[in-house]
Amino acid sequence: MSVFSHSRLESFETCPKKYEFAYVLRLPRGPAGIEAFLGSRVHEALEWLYSEVRMCRVPDEEDVVERYRAAWADEWSDEVKVVRADRTATDYQAVGEKAVRRYYRRYHPFDQGDTVGLEMRVKFALDQDHEIVGYIDRLVKVSDGVWEIHDYKTSAQLMTQEKAEADRQLALYDLAVRRAYPDASEVRLVWHYLAHDHEVRSCRSEAQLVDLRAQVLDEVRHIEAQATFPTKPSKLCDWCDYRPSCPAWADLYRAEEEPQREGPAPDSSQLVDDYATCSEQISEARSRLAGLREAIIVRAADEGVERLFGTGRVAAVRHAAAVVLPSPGDPAREELEQALSDLGLSRRYLQLATGALAHDLTAGLVSPEAAARLGPFTTPSESVKVTVSRLE
Ligand code: SF4
Repeated sequence: MSVFSHSRLESFETCPKKYEFAYVLRLPRGPAGIEAFLGSRVHEALEWLYSEVRMCRVPDEEDVVERYRAAWADEWSDEVKVVRADRTATDYQAVGEKAVRRYYRRYHPFDQGDTVGLEMRVKFALDQDHEIVGYIDRLVKVSDGVWEIHDYKTSAQLMTQEKAEADRQLALYDLAVRRAYPDASEVRLVWHYLAHDHEVRSCRSEAQLVDLRAQVLDEVRHIEAQATFPTKPSKLCDWCDYRPSCPAWADLYRAEEEPQREGPAPDSSQLVDDYATCSEQISEARSRLAGLREAIIVRAADEGVERLFGTGRVAAVRHAAAVVLPSPGDPAREELEQALSDLGLSRRYLQLATGALAHDLTAGLVSPEAAARLGPFTTPSESVKVTVSRLE
């Protein structure tokens, strides 16, 4: 039985290489980022609060805050990564404390329903080979048949209602809760955006859950069919545990470790800088060339001449009659192709779109039957693309 979770799926969607590091190669994760560290401490404080409430004891606000502070101090390590240069660990600690206080004041005395589970592991089978697991921050029974799944978020971004309606994580927990408690006729999904003291709510219909289950099963099968896991560099790389091992970033780390690296060939930074300069010059030259061409045409027309003379070179401007045919995508294009076919001219004028065909075959966009029929005409190859972008 393969076990998947929302975060496992999200990892693949964020970056297939990150997924490979975490779930295929199972490389150890690096030290936590400060955002995750803060989230864990706030979750622990609220878990403790509700565990006390379940024992018919309602702690004071200061007790909960003290729990939070003590856990922060106990768990803190200088290895916790603070990515943003304009923030300190103390800033984050204050954000967490404020979140705990605001939550406490909003929900005290914490009697909104019966807490059935805290950090509760739930699971359900997608099919006989795949299972989904997850952890519900707090599961609440509100009344007979009415359940609520509560999720605490400490991120600065506030979820929109539209995103809540489409959220997959709590919807998967919804499926698990309905499976575990068949009396659940209404399951409410509740997100607590603690930094904003804001609640977002949503729910799913039976039909939406059926669709979700099918989509997730498709995605799981798609992931399992992957032979390679490409990198997908983005801003999220700053928070990725595997950055030093990632082929998209490893050269940067090597350069930092060996600043004096020397060798017969120029080092990476020289190569990249030269390549970038060269491609910028080409792009500027292309744009300048287009402008000069236009100026030559206009000048020749103004002068009423066919040729303009430079120093040792001459530019000839010739106007000739031409026809323009409908471009791909123009509805008339299909009629043109039909006309060529009717005239028996297809073989001469309709060229095989080998580029598009090779792309679709590589990307698996043709049917298995077509791929099998066309397979003998293909030769395995590899394309290499080099792109240069600015580092932020
Ligand atoms: S550093 Fe970026 S590209 Fe590399 S594995 Fe992590 S998320 Fe993917």
